[in-house]
Amino acid sequence: MNATTRARCLRAAYARMVVALLPMLLAVILAWRGQSFAALAVFTVAFATVTVGTIIPRCTLFGRMITTLPAGKRHALLTIDDGPHPEHTPAILDILDRHGLKAVFFLIGDRAAAHPALVREIVARGHEIGNHTQTHPAYRFWSLHPVQLWREISACQQTLTSICPDHPPRFFRPPAGHHNMFVPVITRALGLRTLMWSARGFDGVKTDLELITNRIRARLRSGAIVLIHEATPVAVQVAESVAAMIAEAELASTEPLAHTFGGDEVVVEGRGAP
Ligand SMILES: [Zn+2]
Repeated sequence: MNATTRARCLRAAYARMVVALLPMLLAVILAWRGQSFAALAVFTVAFATVTVGTIIPRCTLFGRMITTLPAGKRHALLTIDDGPHPEHTPAILDILDRHGLKAVFFLIGDRAAAHPALVREIVARGHEIGNHTQTHPAYRFWSLHPVQLWREISACQQTLTSICPDHPPRFFRPPAGHHNMFVPVITRALGLRTLMWSARGFDGVKTDLELITNRIRARLRSGAIVLIHEATPVAVQVAESVAAMIAEAELASTEPLAHTFGGDEVVVEGRGAP
């Protein structure tokens, strides 16, 4: 994360911006020459491309992302966003132990800095920690420019690495799942791969436990990556229900996560969710 890496990464990100603006420039030139229909067509296609790539969480238009586990064996992965939380994290760790599950915790840097012992406890209990930005700007993350994105993602990486130097995050998940054309450039420079999901119950915004778990159950199958949250009114109940659901379906992987994600050859990147 030195200054040279940062400068090279930001140059690449702004180069993407220039490339993205070229169709807009072409549309202006066409309009100026009186070719209104062609100008409108170019503008519409360019605008739609940028919009779709930005607002659809698992869209791979701007870069690769992991949305499912490798095929060939029976397993699912539980991922838990927005921690650590002083009450929920210890309770969820006990639930995971009881059901024999290993999970990935996508942690917010500011919360991790406030509760470093919880971060160390997550790692000590055999789970993986992931980068979920330093301040979790959920509603505006998609609109951040490269310098702001670098600050958010690299600060979280530094925070988590300083707490667990032997376990630097290998995966990134954008807040609310939204990203933009600059995010893959920055995550790549920081050595992170984006890990999304294939099953979620919207427990970050809903509190109906039955509705949340039914939605996840409908999408739970081998290869699924399940998303749930800490720091919600139903966090512990959701974790208990979903962990039990994965264990009952015999989808709990007995392998260490380091083995599952050990190399590119075992990871399915850029593929649609099941
Ligand atoms: Zn989040």
